[in-house]
Amino acid sequence: MKVMGVMQIQHHFLLVLLSAAARSQVNPEMCRYPLGMTGGQILDEDITASSQWSESTAPRFGRLDFDNGDGDGAWCPDGKSEADGLRQYLQVDLRSLHFLTLVGTQGRHADGMGKEFAQRYRIHYSRDDTHWVAWQDRKGQPVIEGNRNPYDVVLKDLEPPIIARYVRFIPVTDHSMIVCMRVELYGCQWLDGLMEYSAPEGHQMIYRGLDVFLNDSVYDGVASDRLTKGLGLLTDGTWGLDDFLHSPIYGMWPGYDYVGWTNRTFPRGYVEMVFNFDHIRNFTSMKVHSSNMFSRGVRLFRQASCFFRSEGDWEGDPVAFKHPADRISQGARFITVPLGGRTASSIKCRFHFGDLWMLISEVAFQSGSAVYNTSLTPRKRGHPTNALPGEDPTHKLDDSNTRILIGCLVAIIAILSAIIVIILWRQVWQKLLEKASRRMLDDELTERLAEQTQAFFFLRSSFSSSTTSSSEKAVGEGGGSSSTSPYERIFPLSGDYQEPSRLIRKLPEFAQSAENLVASRSSRLLLQQVGGPDGPPHYAEADIISLLDGPVSTSSCSSIAAFSLLASREVPVREFPRDRLSFREKLGEGQFGEVHLCEAEGMQDFLDEDASIERSHGGSPLLVAVKTLREDANKNARNDFLKEIRIMSRLRDPNIVRLLAVCVDTDPLCMITEYMENGDLNQFLHQLQLREAPTTEAEEQGEVVGNVVSYSKLMSMAVQIASGMRYLSSLNFVHRDLATRNCLVGRSCTIKIADFGMSRNLYRGDYYRIQGRAVLPIRWMSWESILLGKFTMASDVWAFAVTLWEILTLCQEQPYCQFSDEQVIENTGEFFRDHGKQVYLPKPACCPDDVYTDLMLSCWRRNAKQRPGFQEIHCRLMENAA
Ligand code: AMP
Repeated sequence: MKVMGVMQIQHHFLLVLLSAAARSQVNPEMCRYPLGMTGGQILDEDITASSQWSESTAPRFGRLDFDNGDGDGAWCPDGKSEADGLRQYLQVDLRSLHFLTLVGTQGRHADGMGKEFAQRYRIHYSRDDTHWVAWQDRKGQPVIEGNRNPYDVVLKDLEPPIIARYVRFIPVTDHSMIVCMRVELYGCQWLDGLMEYSAPEGHQMIYRGLDVFLNDSVYDGVASDRLTKGLGLLTDGTWGLDDFLHSPIYGMWPGYDYVGWTNRTFPRGYVEMVFNFDHIRNFTSMKVHSSNMFSRGVRLFRQASCFFRSEGDWEGDPVAFKHPADRISQGARFITVPLGGRTASSIKCRFHFGDLWMLISEVAFQSGSAVYNTSLTPRKRGHPTNALPGEDPTHKLDDSNTRILIGCLVAIIAILSAIIVIILWRQVWQKLLEKASRRMLDDELTERLAEQTQAFFFLRSSFSSSTTSSSEKAVGEGGGSSSTSPYERIFPLSGDYQEPSRLIRKLPEFAQSAENLVASRSSRLLLQQVGGPDGPPHYAEADIISLLDGPVSTSSCSSIAAFSLLASREVPVREFPRDRLSFREKLGEGQFGEVHLCEAEGMQDFLDEDASIERSHGGSPLLVAVKTLREDANKNARNDFLKEIRIMSRLRDPNIVRLLAVCVDTDPLCMITEYMENGDLNQFLHQLQLREAPTTEAEEQGEVVGNVVSYSKLMSMAVQIASGMRYLSSLNFVHRDLATRNCLVGRSCTIKIADFGMSRNLYRGDYYRIQGRAVLPIRWMSWESILLGKFTMASDVWAFAVTLWEILTLCQEQPYCQFSDEQVIENTGEFFRDHGKQVYLPKPACCPDDVYTDLMLSCWRRNAKQRPGFQEIHCRLMENAA
C-alpha cells in the first residue's frame, strides 16, 4: 500500500480546521471527518482483531472502500471460534482520544468474489484499553443494523457519540454465517482531553404533574448515587434548549438533555463535580451550559469555585467565579468560567445553586495551545509517531509543524480563491446557456415531454401548460415572473433538485429517466421553468407569497384565479401600541425568534366581529401570543416575516390560527396571534395515553381527562385539521408543511393550523437538510414533492395522512423512525417505481381497518389524482367520528 501524499495534506487541513473549531467546544455536526481507515492515516499495526480467517483476511484489510488486491478484500474472523462462544472483534487504536460521531461498514466484495457482510454489529470502546464500555443508543439499544450486501457502505450515526481511543466492531451473527467487514470511523480529535467526570446522579423533578427526569442517562461509567469513571450527557456535544422540557433530539423524555439537581439534598448549597484529564494541562477556561428558566425555579449557578490537582493532594487556592443572577432572559446559555491558566490533571468544581434547581447540559474545557498543538503532529504510515524517543511533543511546537501550518493556510486560501473563481465562471456560463436554450428549445421540450413514460406523468402534466406559454413567462419567482403552475417547483438553490439524479442516485430507473431529462439542454430549461435558480432559501414560504404577490397569468388554471382572489382581498392588519403589551412568559422559539405570552391591554378594540377569540371579561387584558423577529435578523428574514404576516392576515377560519394585530412601526417587528394555551399538537399528544374504553362521563364525551385521551377525541382533532385544510384548499392554498408540530391546541382541544412560514428549531430532526441550505420535512412529503419538487393540494393530502398517523400514534415516534433520512428517500423511490416494494406507515393500534385502508392508504396513492380531496376527507372523518 502506498503513502498517499494528497491524503496526508487533506488530513493536515482537517486537523488545522478541527483544532480551530474545537477551541470552544466540540460540535458534532462539524466533527464528522474520516479518521483514516480508508485514507491510511490509521496504521496497519493499530488495526488488530480477535482472530482472522486467513492471512489474506487479516485485520489490516478491514479498511472501508479499500481493496488493493493483496488480500481477500476485508477482515474476516475465524468462524470456528465464534461457535465456541467467543466474541469476534476488529479493533482500531486511534492513538489518542477522539470524539466519534459516525461509523461506516461494508462487507467483502473482492471484485465480485466475496459476498460476506455483517448484517448487525455492536460497538465496544475504551479510553484506556482497560475499562471497556458496550455502546448503546439513546434508547438503550446496543445492536446496530449493518450491511445488506457486500459492496454498499452503510453509515450509522452514533447517538450518543463516543469519546474513546480504542474501538471494537463486533459482528452479531448466527454461528453458521461467515462475516467479513471493512470499517471507517468518523469524528475528530477530543481536544478537551477529559477522560472522566464524577458528579451526583441527577434528580427527578415533577413539573405540573409531568415527570421530568434529569439524570445522566448516557453516562458510560459507574452510575449509582454518585456517577464515577465515565463520560455522559455533559460531554455529548448536544446542549439543551431554553425550555428544558423539550429536547432537540426526537422522541426523548422531558428534561432529557440536562443533568439537574435540587438544592434540597445539598445542605452546603453546592454540587461538587470532579473532572479527570488524560495528562497535565494548562487550563484557560471552562464553559458550562446551563438553564435559566427561572419561572420554573431553575437558575444558572451563582458561583463556581474550582480546585486543581496535578498529582497528590488538591491545591489550597481555588479559582472562584461569581455570576450575577439574570432576571430578564430565561434563555439557556454557556457560562465561561476563567481558570487562570492553572496547571492540573484533575479539576474539582463546586457549583453553587442560584435557585431551587440547577440544570447543566454540557461542560467543555479549553487548555493551553501547547497541548492543542499535538493535534498537528502528523502520523505517517509505518511510523507510530514522529516524535523522537524521549521527546515529548506535547510541550513544544516543532518547526516543521509551523511550516506545515503556514503551508496549509496558504494552500487553503489558494484553493478557496480557485473555488470562488470556478463558481463565478460556472454561474456566468449557466446563465448564458439557459438564456440561449430557453429561446431555442421550447418546441423540443414539448416533444420530449410527450414521450416521457408514465413515470413522469405528473411532471409532464405540470409542464405541458407552461411550455405553451412564452419562455419568459415560465421563469420562477427569482426570475421575476410567474409560472403558470406556481405550486410545482424545484426547491430553490438546491443543486440536488436541479439534478435529481444526484439526490436519488440509488434509484437507477428514476436516475436514468431523470437523466434523459436532465442531460438534455431542454430538460435544464424544464427544471428552470419549474423552479428558477434564485429563489429564497427556505422551501416552504416562497411560492405561497409568489401566489399572493406575483403577477397572475390570465391564462392560468383555476387555482391561480382563486389565488388572485385571495391576493386581492385586502384585509388590513392593525398596528397595536407596543406599550400595551406586557410580557408574561416565553412560549417557545422559532426560526424568526422568540414567541412570548403577553397580556394585551385594550386588544378587544382590535378584534373583528367574526373573531372566534375568547374575549376577556370586564375589559381585563387579553392573553395573546407575540412572535418577535430577532434583532440580528437579516433582510431576507425580515422580508419573510412580513410575508408571513401578509399570508396570515388573509386567512379567516376557525381552524387556522388568527393574526390579531402587528407591531411593525418600529423594531423589533412583532406579530400578535391568538394564544393557544396547550401549545403545539405534537408535544400535547406526546404526553397523553390512549384510553380505549371510556370509563368516566367526561371521557365518554371525548374529553381529555388527566393525561388520558379517547379515540373519539383524537378523531375530533383530525376532523378539525381536515376542516382547516378544506378551507385552505378552497383557496388553492398549498401549506407544504402540514404536521402535528405545526398545529396548535387551544382550550377544549380546539386545533388550529399554524406555521405558514418557517420550521422550528425544536423539530429540526424532522427536516432533511440538503447541502446545508434547503430544509425538507421528507417524512411528511409525497414522493412527487421529494423527487420532482412538486407541491399541490394532493401532496398536502399525503402530509395530512401522515399527520393523522401521528395523531393516532399519539406522536410517540417520528414517521418511519426505523429509517434514516437516506432510507426514507430510497423508499420514496419505491413509491415512484411502484413495484410493490414501497413501505407504508403501519396501521396505528387504535386505528380502525377502514380508516387505514380507505383513508390513509388512499392519501398515499402514487397517482396524485386518485387521492381524495380535503372535502371528501373531512366528510369521511366526520362519519367515522360520529
Ligand atoms: P413558531 O415560531 O410559530 O414556530 O413557534 C415557536 C413556539 O412557540 C412553538 O413551540 C409553539 O408551541 C409556540 N407558539 C407559537 N405560536 C403560539 C400560539 N399562538 N399560542 C401558543 N403557543 C404558540
